Amino acid sequence: MKISVIGSGTMGNGIAHVFAQFGFDVTVIDLNDEILAAALGKIEKNMGRQLKKEIITEQQMKDALGRISLSTDMKSAADSALVVEAASENKQIKEKIFKDLDTLCAPDTILASNTSSISITSLGAVTNRPGKVIGMHFMNPVPMMELVEIIRGLATSDETYKAVKEMTETLQKTPVEVNDFPGFISNRILMPMINEAIFTVMEGVADVEAVDAVMKLGMNHPMGPLTLADFIGLDVCLDIMNVLYDGLGDPKYRACPLLKKMVAAGHLGRKSKKGFYTYD
Ligand code: NAD
Repeated sequence: MKISVIGSGTMGNGIAHVFAQFGFDVTVIDLNDEILAAALGKIEKNMGRQLKKEIITEQQMKDALGRISLSTDMKSAADSALVVEAASENKQIKEKIFKDLDTLCAPDTILASNTSSISITSLGAVTNRPGKVIGMHFMNPVPMMELVEIIRGLATSDETYKAVKEMTETLQKTPVEVNDFPGFISNRILMPMINEAIFTVMEGVADVEAVDAVMKLGMNHPMGPLTLADFIGLDVCLDIMNVLYDGLGDPKYRACPLLKKMVAAGHLGRKSKKGFYTYD
């Protein structure tokens, strides 16, 4: 069965990796050859890690890599059973991709988005096949994380949901059914917790290390919320809080002023080497 993945960044190359690993033919589509070559290099490196850990054999790695092809032309997705869009988190970019895919792809192709925060219902509405549009929200790093949130837009059909659920299980991942509301389940619960951790620091209740220590040692979280915020990127956290606030209209989702100030200062976490912690 052929799958296409649009966008080969952090998430796209991981999604292509797992589909190829579990026997699907995968076409990866991005804007230029350099980006695609880097993505393939990342997949090879990550499969090499799985080989070392004896999760896959040398033959399985060779076969999986042999199932991946690269393209800069959206038309290459035309005959796919499923297209997973994992392009940059921008509504205009995604709407354009969904409109193009709707025109180019066979009528029975399912169009999925890996978006963290854009409405699946609104992406479905720019196509003539809203029943075949769905969210597949993989977690980072994709080859290692078991969860996929499957988001049903208002018009997503039962048939589409069932097909995507079954494909997710073929990837040895656990699908969780979610209705389309801002933040789905994951970010609706995670981001307000991170935001509250930032309020806790801002109000002087405790310092950064103390907040992380309580959640790690007391609640058994693998990472404290402020370490996690640095890992995700403070700009991404702020964007998602704004999506929750705008979409749900409840002041409980207002972004913490300290989060806004840090983003304004360019203190974005790991990627800028400074956030709640400092990185080399
Ligand atoms: P990224 O910036 O690493 O990669 C995005 C890729 O999309 C880039 O390679 C870019 O060249 C490509 N792209 C942009 N416009 C394109 C177009 N018109 N056609 C083809 N390719 C195009 O981003 P990412 O972190 O991989 O995020 C991708 C999606 O996954 C976003 O919707 C994001 O919200 C979601 N997501 C991210 C994470 C995460 O932890 N990074 C987790 C879950 C979901």
